[in-house]
Amino acid sequence: MEDYLKLEGVRKSFGDTPVLAGVDLNIAEGELITLLGPSGCGKSTLLRCIAGLTELDSGSIRLADKELTKLPPRSRDVGMVFQSYALFPNLTVSQNVEYGMRMRGVAPAARRSRCEELLALVDLEDKRGVYPQALSGGQQQRVALARSLAVQPKLLLLDEPLSALDAKIRKNLRAEIRDIQRRLGMTTLFVTHDQEEALILSDRICIMNQGRMVQEGSPEQLYTAPRTEFAARFMGSYN
Ligand code: ADP
Ligand code: MG
Repeated sequence: MEDYLKLEGVRKSFGDTPVLAGVDLNIAEGELITLLGPSGCGKSTLLRCIAGLTELDSGSIRLADKELTKLPPRSRDVGMVFQSYALFPNLTVSQNVEYGMRMRGVAPAARRSRCEELLALVDLEDKRGVYPQALSGGQQQRVALARSLAVQPKLLLLDEPLSALDAKIRKNLRAEIRDIQRRLGMTTLFVTHDQEEALILSDRICIMNQGRMVQEGSPEQLYTAPRTEFAARFMGSYN
């Protein structure tokens, strides 16, 4: 399949510390790739570079044949959901979902109908008028997901969106995210440090360690044929 998102030689240091040490990554259109790696290995930094929230030192990031590195975040067609709920506390659910569209000058009627569609997609139509603090963690993440989809991104970045949630809610929302991703055919990069989540969710897994990609493959390949001891330990292949 043709690459839809293509990262080549992405490097980033903070001071003297290299955090991304030349990352290459390819994703086909409609694929859900999990980026799996231990805490501190550079996963969030990589997503922030793709979204334009952090400037990279060198390398290239192409999405649908457009070079992103020179574009401001708003022009990148990238939606992002963070680990902790990043909703605006002073805006209602529907105002949160409509926020990005409002910033881009989408007309009120179009905004409202898109917002209703998205709230139906995440099954929160009855919460449109409430404020984030009245929602559970799982509901807040569903609003964050709706908000990130509102501007019809070409790429969805999910940065450990489930890790702050209880086990049961996490499993439900995991299945829901997968279902929504398939239905929309949304190209998605899902970051986690949880092996089980990666094995269940992904079309393909990329294992990252210390700012580099260590191995990539299907969930079965990585589980049954890890190429490095790090990948093996990390996938739980030897116990
Ligand atoms: P992960 O998401 O995989 O846990 P991060 O990308 O958040 O990892 O962080 C990777 C490394 O970069 C960590 O050592 C972290 O302390 C460092 N780091 C991240 N952001 C900054 C920053 N803004 N300034 C300095 N160091 C940072
Ligand atoms: Mg992180």
